[in-house]
Amino acid sequence: MSKKLYADIIIDISSESLDKTYQYEIPEELLEKVQIGSPVEIPFGAKNRRIHGYIIEFSQKPKIEETKIKPICGIVTGELAIEGQLILLAAWMKENYGATMNEALKTVIPVKKRIKEEIKRTIVPIVELEQLEQIKIQALKKKHVAKVRLLTELLEQKELPYELVIQKLAVSRSTIESLVKAGVIRVEAVKKYRGNRQKLESQVKKKILNSNQQTVVDRIIENEKRGQNKTYLLYGVTGSGKTEVYLEVIEYIIAQHKQVIVLIPEISLTYQTVKRFSERFLDRVSILNSKMSQGERYDQSERARRGEIDIMIGPRSALFTPFPNLGMIIIDEEHEASYKSEMPPKYHARETAIERANLVGASVILGSATPSLETFYRTSIGEYELLQLPNRANKAQLPKIHVVDLREELKQKNRSMFSRLLKDFICDRLTKHQQIMLFLNRRGYAGFVSCRSCGHVMRCPHCDISLTSHKNGTLVCHYCGYEEPIPQKCPKCGSHYIAAFGTGTQKVEEMVKKEFPQGRILRMDADTTKSKESYESILSAFANHEADILIGTQMIVKGHDFPDVTLVGILAADLSLNTGDYRAAERTYQLLSQAAGRAGRGNSYGEVVIQTYQPDHYSIETAAAGDYENFFEQEMAYRGLMGYPPVSHILVLLMLAKEEEKLIFASELFARVAKEWISQTKQETITKVIGPAAATLSKAKDIYRRVLYFKQPNYAILVELKNFLEAYFLYSKQLSGCRIQFDFDPLQGY
Ligand code: ADP
Ligand code: ZN
Ligand code: ZN
Repeated sequence: MSKKLYADIIIDISSESLDKTYQYEIPEELLEKVQIGSPVEIPFGAKNRRIHGYIIEFSQKPKIEETKIKPICGIVTGELAIEGQLILLAAWMKENYGATMNEALKTVIPVKKRIKEEIKRTIVPIVELEQLEQIKIQALKKKHVAKVRLLTELLEQKELPYELVIQKLAVSRSTIESLVKAGVIRVEAVKKYRGNRQKLESQVKKKILNSNQQTVVDRIIENEKRGQNKTYLLYGVTGSGKTEVYLEVIEYIIAQHKQVIVLIPEISLTYQTVKRFSERFLDRVSILNSKMSQGERYDQSERARRGEIDIMIGPRSALFTPFPNLGMIIIDEEHEASYKSEMPPKYHARETAIERANLVGASVILGSATPSLETFYRTSIGEYELLQLPNRANKAQLPKIHVVDLREELKQKNRSMFSRLLKDFICDRLTKHQQIMLFLNRRGYAGFVSCRSCGHVMRCPHCDISLTSHKNGTLVCHYCGYEEPIPQKCPKCGSHYIAAFGTGTQKVEEMVKKEFPQGRILRMDADTTKSKESYESILSAFANHEADILIGTQMIVKGHDFPDVTLVGILAADLSLNTGDYRAAERTYQLLSQAAGRAGRGNSYGEVVIQTYQPDHYSIETAAAGDYENFFEQEMAYRGLMGYPPVSHILVLLMLAKEEEKLIFASELFARVAKEWISQTKQETITKVIGPAAATLSKAKDIYRRVLYFKQPNYAILVELKNFLEAYFLYSKQLSGCRIQFDFDPLQGY
């Protein structure tokens, strides 16, 4: 008896009807040809009207009476409609990252929401420019900073989109209102622009590219002209002019009647960045951000689909913009962790962008001053093409970096959080009226234990990552579950100065106030940036010299350019070095380089002080020397030795349940069946099973969390293992009350 195979097909591609599928039979001659995502022709309704749909799932069981199930007519050939492309992409994401097809589809297809007919509004001055200048000077005197920001831009632009002013300039509606009342500006409604090609000429003078930039642009365009679609790594130091390169390449691509997606981490999506794109490409550019409503997001993607825009800029989700003829995807700051989704499917925008580009014949540019290990590895084996910008574009010099050994400070009886060198430098800058950034590279769950006398850090003997201290007096490894008591004395030097490491930005602020009472301080961290505008308003207050010292977490190292910052202090490089996961050294290298890159962007020479208990750690030494390749070599050796990505791959199985006992049972069951599967497929010599263990976040919102890790050099085998575990979970009756999630090569801690 031959078993029939059925396919679930969706017809209406919009997320509110994704759950509505129709079952069809797959005729024998098509069995080998169909896959998830295939566009097919089917007979529909009582009259068997021929329509198109997409396969999103296979099954062996009929959901309705077998005789009522009709067969698929055939596969639709020819060019794939944009929906088909996105469904194929969703299917690829489901397979490679683990998720349900529905979760994958909801990620790539925008939620359809009807919104009111959009009216575009702009702000225009209605007084002469000289008068505007006068009003600005008045506002400056009264320290009306938001007003000053708006007026400064108006003096330059003569017209500003209303939404841009609210969102990116962080000017409130009431500020705009007051200027309207005073007869300074007017808010004009512009009729919504539809379809026809834009006649406006861009007003900006293009920068003349330097020879490095020109070489890079020429190389990309040359390949494009030959029809070669590639993935490039644009590796350029901070301020080397990567953005100018993007602008130039985009201009070429859109001249070929193709469209471009530009991914920028949300945190760097500042007014300055957006302005550079919109000045050049006017209203052919659109921006997505997480503050937009679903309706607004849907509207933007519809504009893209209709061909009203050529360029979409946004964070991770902008990757799924339904451009009909996509030519290029640019990912700026490609090393950023925010490119990986924390929700299933836990996809990485970089790999997914490359997959989308492959599906449609487009190219990808990955830009970074501190490339991810993955990307540099792929480049070193020739999979991506390396393009370099080794110098700063505007003649600014890279800053001088000093590394201070905090163990030495302790020996000299300096117990303050500021080393003597940093103190001297802070005083010096305060007297010179130059600006200072103090940076605390803290990560949420840092709870490591170290010795302040010799710098020794307690690490897991099996995983070579730092152990995390728990309230009950133990140290725990969150990969393998290894535990030991918190020592009273340092096992290396016998000192009693061994304790959990911890300090917050608020504490730093207090200490700065105490030691440098003359300094005006701004603090930026998760607490001070809760409201929508606060992030940008703190940054612009600092840019307007309303403070001398900006204290903050990693938030402050991105985005804005502060030409008058001549000192950057990194208070404890160790905080990101010992976060209890295998990417700690990489993250430290990135944070230190990026923080250092903030100093001396203007005319004055910049200096950086890195304070640490481990001054000879390679990530600190190489970051201080600006030697990425040296860092890469050493880090790759560690990853290779320990079997971490990109040398090997990791699959995380996260298990969740309300009842702890059930969860412990489930995690042990999963470990057992996984080991059986591994031995049956003869993989035991190269597949390592680690755990099960309680997650770092062992309980969240009353749900218990446990993890199992698998290490294996071949990604495809981990995908098979995931498929096996997924199927086991679906069919096992012992696992009710549990949920599972997968994560490949995790960036987040569990
Ligand atoms: P990155 O994106 O690599 O950090 P940017 O493109 O932001 O670098 O450039 C850094 C600074 O140098 C910016 O102020 C930019 O305007 C300036 N710049 C870039 N390219 C040139 C150029 N060819 N000539 C003059 N200034 C440039
Ligand atoms: Zn010690
Ligand atoms: Zn361990």
